[in-house]
Amino acid sequence: MNNVTDLIRDIPDFPEPGIVFKDITPVLANADAFSSLITALAEPYVDKGITKVAGIEARGFTLATPVADRLGAGFIPIRKPGKLPYQTVREDYELEYGIDALELHTDAVFEGEKVLLVDDVIATGGTAAAAVSLLRRLGADVIGFSVFIELAFLGGAERVDGVPLHALASYD
Ligand code: AMP
Repeated sequence: MNNVTDLIRDIPDFPEPGIVFKDITPVLANADAFSSLITALAEPYVDKGITKVAGIEARGFTLATPVADRLGAGFIPIRKPGKLPYQTVREDYELEYGIDALELHTDAVFEGEKVLLVDDVIATGGTAAAAVSLLRRLGADVIGFSVFIELAFLGGAERVDGVPLHALASYD
């Protein structure tokens, strides 16, 4: 994974002062690195009976869809409010300043279905916790959260209650 993580680009003070943004676009643009990344995200979940992979808008989509294909599973989008066309469930969650929300189609998963959550970065864990809550409200069995980058100093893993985190790169 070193050749993959070496391609992560740190952008200081983006999108606001004090944030070091982890830019994964150089990884996505490199065919070998992108393929290795998808393999590493999917690998622990091969033959685990996963039938759906959920991705969080928008960078999560770029990773969750190829992971779903690798696992022979379907893909379901978790999106910002007002983007999904059918009936949705909605979960509000707190940001550092203010609140945000995520939505999921009500027919995205079946009761008891094994679901894997995928995203690019876990920071405070608020986004992932809201996504897990939405999936569970529909009866999903969320068996893991596979993420490229964990900002461990923010303690996000603890907020994603009862869902084991598989992070490929962790920063203290
Ligand atoms: P959080 O809810 O704090 O865990 O933030 C998670 C979401 O914000 C993820 O979906 C990431 O895509 C994005 N994010 C948060 N912090 C960063 C960062 N330092 N670099 C890149 N993306 C980030």
